[in-house]
Amino acid sequence: MEYGPAPEDADRARQWISEQGATFGHWINGAWNSASHHYESVNPATQETLARIGQAGRSDVHAAVVAARQALGPWQALGGEGRARHLYALARQVQKHARILSVIETLDNGKPIRETRDIDIPLVARHFYHHAGWATLVEEELPESEPLGVIGQIIPWNFPLLMLAWKVAPALAAGNTVVLKPAEYTSLSAFYFAQMSHDVGLPPGVLNIVTGDGNAGRELVEHPGINKVAFTGSTGVGREIRETTAGSGKALTLELGGKSPFIVFADADLDSAVEGVVDAIWFNQGQVCCAGSRLLVQESVADDFLSRLKTRMQSLRLGDPLDKAIDMGAIVDQGQLDTIRSYVEGAVKEGASCWQANSGVPDQGWYFPPTLVTDVAPAHTIATEEVFGPVLAVMTFRTHSEAIEIANNTRYGLAASVWSENVNLALEIASKVKAGVVWVNCTNEFDAAVGFGGYRESGFGREGGIEGLWAYRRSPLDLLPDENPPSDPVLPKLPAEGNALDRTAKLYIGGRQVRPDSGYSHPVAALDRSFAGEVGEGNRKDIRNAVETAHGATAWGKGSAHGRAQVMYFLAENLEVRADEFAKRIKELTGTDGEQEVTAAISRLLYYAGWCDKFEGVSHNAPGGRIVFAMPEPIGVMGLICPQSHPLLGLVSLVAPAIAVGNVVVVIPSENAPLVATDFYQVLETSDVPAGVVNIITGSRPELAKELARHDNVDGLWCAGHHEMVTEVERLSSGNLKQTWVFSGERDWCDTSLSQGRPFLRRATQIKNIWVPYGE
Ligand code: NDP
Repeated sequence: MEYGPAPEDADRARQWISEQGATFGHWINGAWNSASHHYESVNPATQETLARIGQAGRSDVHAAVVAARQALGPWQALGGEGRARHLYALARQVQKHARILSVIETLDNGKPIRETRDIDIPLVARHFYHHAGWATLVEEELPESEPLGVIGQIIPWNFPLLMLAWKVAPALAAGNTVVLKPAEYTSLSAFYFAQMSHDVGLPPGVLNIVTGDGNAGRELVEHPGINKVAFTGSTGVGREIRETTAGSGKALTLELGGKSPFIVFADADLDSAVEGVVDAIWFNQGQVCCAGSRLLVQESVADDFLSRLKTRMQSLRLGDPLDKAIDMGAIVDQGQLDTIRSYVEGAVKEGASCWQANSGVPDQGWYFPPTLVTDVAPAHTIATEEVFGPVLAVMTFRTHSEAIEIANNTRYGLAASVWSENVNLALEIASKVKAGVVWVNCTNEFDAAVGFGGYRESGFGREGGIEGLWAYRRSPLDLLPDENPPSDPVLPKLPAEGNALDRTAKLYIGGRQVRPDSGYSHPVAALDRSFAGEVGEGNRKDIRNAVETAHGATAWGKGSAHGRAQVMYFLAENLEVRADEFAKRIKELTGTDGEQEVTAAISRLLYYAGWCDKFEGVSHNAPGGRIVFAMPEPIGVMGLICPQSHPLLGLVSLVAPAIAVGNVVVVIPSENAPLVATDFYQVLETSDVPAGVVNIITGSRPELAKELARHDNVDGLWCAGHHEMVTEVERLSSGNLKQTWVFSGERDWCDTSLSQGRPFLRRATQIKNIWVPYGE
């Protein structure tokens, strides 16, 4: 039997566009502001011009930020329930207008109506419902935190209204106001949403929408009046935003690209896995950040699997996205289509083979057929770069460890899908894949209650669930002090004394005391300017060695939390044995109350030892018979640049939470009193801390901080330092998009409300959400 046409009627959507004169300005302070420049928004399926969209300039962005700032106080004064009522009203309004929203989205983006109607728009409503609940609960469930302020949000074109919902709903629920910039290809559904927000009485200025190209986005990122940037899009632009916001104090979350593995083991239900592949890479024409674009299939079933997959591909229907029986619609734009074509041509040039289904590509519009690329080597561009189109790169593996190795052989870490009927194997693989989301025997599942976001160059921060809400709040620990001293005070250095060589403390790498690569050391002065000792001057090579050694010690994070707790209790015990000696040393070097500092450091170790086996994940009850485990995992290798003050407590305050949750660390101690850190080597050595878990490099903090920030194998970086230093650290961290947390200005590290607690543990971990279906 042949399919007949089943087109959705687009008249109402077109009528709405023409009622606006097919021309849109910016939505600022609850009203339309006309734009001075426009560009055209085009239907990718027909290439017809749908509307003229305003191009925002600096003054438009400024007006929107001012409106959002003015609305902030009254919006917060509404309280949780007041805000919840607005979010609930938005959810209801989305449901009431679901059909026209689906049609607008399909017209503007080219994605099939079946997807906008059944997936995008219902999830938009779900997001607003879910976050209506969070608006009421946020004060109770996220105590000792406050809204960030005005949020600048930038979204891409692949899920226009859904991305708006992912950004706007949690931001408003958490008590912030918003300026949002949609993607230039797909702004229409945001305009419809703006109008709906007005209809349900959302106070003016709470949601502002400015449209335009990347320059409008850049204006928003740079505007001094915003407190956070939340971005979804390409890794390249994410990197640029990381650099622009460095040192500004603006919070940042980045949801970036991916090259996600779809792993099929020999014992998988192969027919189900074939359907999984269809969802993974041909949903939304493959223009999905978490698309399963790398198929890794076990060699013994590869031929069988590919044959079944090709048969299924032949039945995929490509065509008018408004047709309800169409599987794949149009690519968003000519430029994106060209990009996809060039990736496929490049793959063939590199030696891969390309197979396409006879899907019948329409003559008009931007279409690309479902495509399979085989004979792919892991180093091929098609296996490493995000194509963002309906192109699947296929590789095979023999053993489980080879599957993990290939899966993790990527700079990204957004998602993974694992197919096996053996639950032990599937969960083992899920725990070893480096990705923020892992779907077991399913794929591309989303829910508002479940966090979404990546590892590595797929970005940082989560959207959805409680962790997504945290990303729109700040704790007192995140507040930057007003005073940003231009530079850290460093005590004067003295010339070396007679037999100083014998008294030179070395570096501490891999559980051993090693000489610095530079061969240099410098004398350290006590407060009375007398000679206290010498410390090694670490350099780039020492950092490299320490990072490599730390990587070899990551078993620390995979072992038992109980084991980590025992080591940390032992550390506290051994520090206590030498408390007098440390107190004396601190007093001698800094003149401060050494006893108080040592006592506080012991308490801090005990505090985090207690947390080791208690900082746990949760399970979410996602719809559709899925259980989701949200597991905090260590970030990996972390660089810790300790404060100048409190040479022992500052170090312990950073090291203890980081290692408690399983990270391994490279530590740069206070330059004022590095001998306290070098004395600490012996405490580490006697406390059963495995070699390589804590590595300490003395030397110039700003220089060593830069080396850590630049290093592509450092996964996270905390830096307590002056403003220029933390700015540089944030800027240089853009290379591999490592997660940073900076503390500029002085803080009292003895004050527990400012220097210990759950925020440290949250910052030392990243949540992996593992989706597992249940039931027959
Ligand atoms: P971009 O990252 O360029 O765009 C995402 C958003 O950022 C858009 O709103 C865009 O505006 C805006 N933007 C662009 N440049 C800047 C800038 N310098 N400062 C601030 N905002 C900016 O992605 P593209 O849409 O151009 O797609 C390019 C590639 O990115 C795709 O081929 C795909 O590989 C990847 N991508 C990944 C997505 C994901 O979800 N992970 C989503 C979309 C794309 P404008 O639309 O006007 O360019």
